[in-house]
Amino acid sequence: MHPSTEVSHSHPHPLEHDHKKCVSEALDIAEHLCVVRGVQLTPIRHQVLELIWDSHKAVKAYDLLDRIKPLQHAAKPATIYRALDFLIEQGLIHRVESLNAFVGCSCSGHQHELLLLICKRCNEVEERPAPKVMTALSEEFSQAGFVAYSKAIEAQGICVKCRESQGNQN
Ligand SMILES: [Zn+2]
Ligand SMILES: [Zn+2]
Ligand SMILES: [Zn+2]
Repeated sequence: MHPSTEVSHSHPHPLEHDHKKCVSEALDIAEHLCVVRGVQLTPIRHQVLELIWDSHKAVKAYDLLDRIKPLQHAAKPATIYRALDFLIEQGLIHRVESLNAFVGCSCSGHQHELLLLICKRCNEVEERPAPKVMTALSEEFSQAGFVAYSKAIEAQGICVKCRESQGNQN
């Protein structure tokens, strides 16, 4: 995603991109990867992924449960958690630890290191690979003799869209 230059200031949340495209691409990649890997994207896993991709906002597990109930009456919290675990394992979504929520992975469909920029105003999460940061972090870990399970760095703040929609105050 490039920084937007065509943001309309009349709308609080301008639609900068064709989100339907994000969703269809994400689902196509997921379906393809599952076939290649010989794992099953079951209807419930597919639905959870689709619901997470409803927007770029982080989604909590209980919100997913609420939204999936009308579609799958038998869905229980454990069903949702199992689907989430699967999607994380397959690198299709990321857990946002600081929000205890989940967001669709927009880059690769494999496990990777990343920097998550979390907007406290709109809850959107942007992921950036940030290779230089990650290399520096790896060096710190090895100097400390520390084995990291994950290398996601989460930063909280205000995203470019929210800043522009408030007229670049501050
Ligand atoms: Zn999108
Ligand atoms: Zn990702
Ligand atoms: Zn925002």
